[in-house]
Amino acid sequence: MGRYIGPVCRLCRREGVKLFLKGTRCNSAKCAIEKSRGIPGMHKLRRGKPSEYALRLREKQKVKRTYGIFERQFRNYYQEATRRPGNSGDALLALIERRFDNVIARLGFAQSRAQARQMIRHGHFTVNGRKLDIPSYLVKPGDTIKVKDREASRKLAAEVVVNEAGPSVPTWLDRISTDPPEGRVSRLPGSEDLSGEFNAQLIIELLSR
Ligand code: SF4
Repeated sequence: MGRYIGPVCRLCRREGVKLFLKGTRCNSAKCAIEKSRGIPGMHKLRRGKPSEYALRLREKQKVKRTYGIFERQFRNYYQEATRRPGNSGDALLALIERRFDNVIARLGFAQSRAQARQMIRHGHFTVNGRKLDIPSYLVKPGDTIKVKDREASRKLAAEVVVNEAGPSVPTWLDRISTDPPEGRVSRLPGSEDLSGEFNAQLIIELLSR
């Protein structure tokens, strides 16, 4: 699957909210949203109330951009979510939340999902003792995630891993240690673990038309 390689602050500016795509910079005064830079592009001065369609589309784009996934993969997650019992919106977000690159970022073993993705692709992590270089792998309860036991991986991890005092880890994950980085998936994420930053219902309304 491809990935977006353009300027990422532009994506936040388009959505009008922080999507936290750049690690530590996102919490600094250098953040484009902090600087109140508005919608990018020459048509930025849009007036009037957004349509229902626009609201739903923006919500979908926000999720895709936050997790760094493209339309086709997103639609696959949606199809999978609709086959699951219960609320499809929650199932959709829970599925995406289980992505390996997201889990690495949530555990604080990378400063952003994009960085986590790159580290995974370069083979710096193992799952249950085996190298796993697929960012879209969906973690399962009981999976143990570690930095690969080699000099280059340990050195990189020492540079990027947030310390214990960093952002809190969601309760469905367990950060066993940061040096060397090791974490475990305690259970599947439930609706109570979804941060509430996205309105999944709007996305389902858009995709089910
Ligand atoms: Fe978004 Fe981070 Fe850039 Fe701020 S610094 S606009 S949160 S990517």
